[in-house]
Amino acid sequence: MKAVVVNPPNAGVEVRDVPSEPPSQGKVLIRTRLNGLCGTDRGIVSGKLTFSRPPLGYNYLILGHETLGEVVEGNGRLRKGDLVVPVVRRGCGSCLNCNLGRQDFCETGNFTEIGIRGAHGTMREEFLDEERYLVKVPNSLGELGVLLEPLSNVVKALNEVEYVQRRMWWRCGDSTYSCMTAAVLGSGPIGLLFSLALKTMGFNVIVANRRPPSEVESEIVEGIDAKFVNTSEKVDIRPDLLVDTSGHPSAFIPVLPKMKKNGALILFGTTGNESYGMTAEDVTTLVENNILIVGSVNASKSDFEAGVNFLLNWKAKYSNLLEKLITKRVKVEEAPDVLTRKLPGEIKTVIEWK
Ligand SMILES: [Zn+2]
Repeated sequence: MKAVVVNPPNAGVEVRDVPSEPPSQGKVLIRTRLNGLCGTDRGIVSGKLTFSRPPLGYNYLILGHETLGEVVEGNGRLRKGDLVVPVVRRGCGSCLNCNLGRQDFCETGNFTEIGIRGAHGTMREEFLDEERYLVKVPNSLGELGVLLEPLSNVVKALNEVEYVQRRMWWRCGDSTYSCMTAAVLGSGPIGLLFSLALKTMGFNVIVANRRPPSEVESEIVEGIDAKFVNTSEKVDIRPDLLVDTSGHPSAFIPVLPKMKKNGALILFGTTGNESYGMTAEDVTTLVENNILIVGSVNASKSDFEAGVNFLLNWKAKYSNLLEKLITKRVKVEEAPDVLTRKLPGEIKTVIEWK
């Protein structure tokens, strides 16, 4: 069958035939409908993500961790025709978090991730997976299900912050977040999904980037009643919650001392390439203001399931706004091209499997 194949740690990508997996007792056979592309895929293709590796016994890796698939042969609770999204990380088998389904908090680091490290991904015509790693998506969501994997990471990060912020009363006097401001640095797919989720939670949302918004970004940000700010101009952001999706210390460090008391910073972006300092005065401000800094990666199956509820809510509330996040659809033959360059005006590019 056709697959998008890489050879980490070497750069490069090709579409070629790979052998089908032999049928395996208890596994579900899934036909791939869509794959989303993200910075991780491009980092593997360029050779910059040095932790990427093929599965044991293979000299190649099938790419793909953002997936929407359709069940071909049911098993247990999944039936033919059901839409499913596989979770990305697979546990190390030896730590408690992994053994309890929280491999996103793996303690050993010996986990695998499909399409990224040590396990084949889903950029192929079909794949087999265990039911416990598959999240069922309502058919009414249709192709929007391809957004579930990136969204699951957002849900996990927000869950973490809400959990840790129980260190005090961190809501408004009417028990909501309506008096609070969240600023999201970066307006890529993750930044926009954070903005949508934070808006749904009740925050006032600012989306920030170092440039003016694209037409689609404007439409989405205005459509959800958030505000876009261009930080290359003089702006004064004073959020209760700061979310960095850029990975650039120069984006979030200057905002930190301006955060409201008892605020929180979520670090999510990892794509930056710079060094940026912090002063002792900044440190004092963080201490005096009880500022929380939390890094967050990956997601549990429960975060995927919570993400389904967000998607259903947004589909109902914002009608066709969500579809605008998918800015380009390509055939698998075009995958090597779109995996080696970011497209102009891109939010989410997807590969369609027919
Ligand atoms: Zn583990």
